[in-house]
Amino acid sequence: MKIETSQRLKSLPPYLFAEIDKIKKDAILKGRDIIDLGVGDPDTPTPMHIIESLYESAQDPSNHKYALNYGIPQFRKAIADWYLTRFSVTLDPDTEVLPLIGSKEGIAHTPLAFINPGDVALIPDPCYPPYKSGTIFAGGICHIMPLLESNDFLPDLDIIDAQVAKRAKIIFLNYPNNPTSATCEREFFEKVIEYAKEHNIIVCHDAAYSEIYFDNNRPLSFLEIPGAKEVGVEFHSLSKTYNMTGWRIGFATGNKDVINALAQVKSNIDSGIFQAVQFAGIMALKTDDSHLNELNDLYKSRRDVLVDGLNKLGWKIKKPKATFYVWIPVPAGSTSTEFARMLLKECDIVATPGVGFGPNGEGYIRMALTVSEERLKEAVDRIKKLHK
Ligand SMILES: *Cc1c(COP(=O)(O)O)cnc(C)c1O
Repeated sequence: MKIETSQRLKSLPPYLFAEIDKIKKDAILKGRDIIDLGVGDPDTPTPMHIIESLYESAQDPSNHKYALNYGIPQFRKAIADWYLTRFSVTLDPDTEVLPLIGSKEGIAHTPLAFINPGDVALIPDPCYPPYKSGTIFAGGICHIMPLLESNDFLPDLDIIDAQVAKRAKIIFLNYPNNPTSATCEREFFEKVIEYAKEHNIIVCHDAAYSEIYFDNNRPLSFLEIPGAKEVGVEFHSLSKTYNMTGWRIGFATGNKDVINALAQVKSNIDSGIFQAVQFAGIMALKTDDSHLNELNDLYKSRRDVLVDGLNKLGWKIKKPKATFYVWIPVPAGSTSTEFARMLLKECDIVATPGVGFGPNGEGYIRMALTVSEERLKEAVDRIKKLHK
């Protein structure tokens, strides 16, 4: 029998990391000492009090059942409390908060709730891939908003064609940004709200890195801006904030109609988050500030080792104000894939070619600060040899 995949699978953007993945795999098999700066997955463990909370909740048989679709009320309340403390934003835990099986899940499912075949989603490029794949799965059209260094990696809403804006149902945004590590100011969000109201477009702001920042550049929540709740939602993740990528827990907050529609999609697809994980999520949100202070200090020293080290070699890298990524222009004359391939072959260093995040990522590579300072020093030393 011939197995034929659907048009929607065939129309996903090409997976451009395949070649680097293969070279990396071969290198590891050959026993080479690879420094992997490719994956955005925290290397330090989940804090112990969160693990202990899971351990305790996992032993309670009442948590062994199907979870409620909207999440347990205690977790929704903890999310609303966290928002109030962190952003001074008041949320109704019953209608304006929705637990997710990781924010990726919610992001990828949101277009199913709003996009009809042929509708447009406005998508930053380069970007975290699920904005595009979620839109394509829903039969939508991705209209790319280039994120250019000349505009501080913010999309220029003024250049979006009026006909496109008319057909647009959703706009995806992400600050602090993966992969560019750019941050945004209040004025940008104000402009987005005005634009969304004018064109009737739902704003989906991905705030996965809202807690990973340096030098007191504390990121804003989209929902802090007056009018935000009328036009959109925000996605948060416990993954980066509390080193919980494998636990699969996150949440959406904001406009109650958007939250309700997403909940409706989800209730037809999943059956909630394991309740013991939700109790651990409550514990995570109650973590005291010292955890994030230490985590951000750690990423900051790593950032300085890598960026200062490479800039001493004549590279021209701006220090990120947030996220654990460094977005690095590649030398003139090579593409991002060629440069990443060269780093892997000559230095045993994995970096992610920017073009894998979309055509406007061409000209850059992304390095993640998720390895130790010693390994980053070693990476700089290996690259130094290239310059001789
Ligand atoms: C890591 C990441 C997420 C996702 O996380 P979950 O683990 O699914 O909660 C979402 N958005 C961006 C931009 C990310 O980098």
